[in-house]
Amino acid sequence: MSPDTTGAQSADAIDCEAALTQLGDYLKHELTPDLAARVRAHVEACAPCFHELRFAERLLALLQSSAAGIRCPDPLRTRIAEALRAETGDR
Ligand SMILES: [Zn+2]
Repeated sequence: MSPDTTGAQSADAIDCEAALTQLGDYLKHELTPDLAARVRAHVEACAPCFHELRFAERLLALLQSSAAGIRCPDPLRTRIAEALRAETGDR
């Protein structure tokens, strides 16, 4: 008998590099359900990638809210905006 696919583990696991590469598309829901599930499984088991995901999540939310013209008086927003500016060199 062939093994069942219910407990997909190491066979479907992706590494940190792959997870981080897909992170942006994952947050924008542009991955296939299968790939999204693999990214999710990885970040749930990997603390560094989980932090990256949370950070990217916040960034994306900020970008979307600022694109919608919503101003959020959150100190964190300023800090992230500064970090973004430093990273992109955009002023
Ligand atoms: Zn990882």
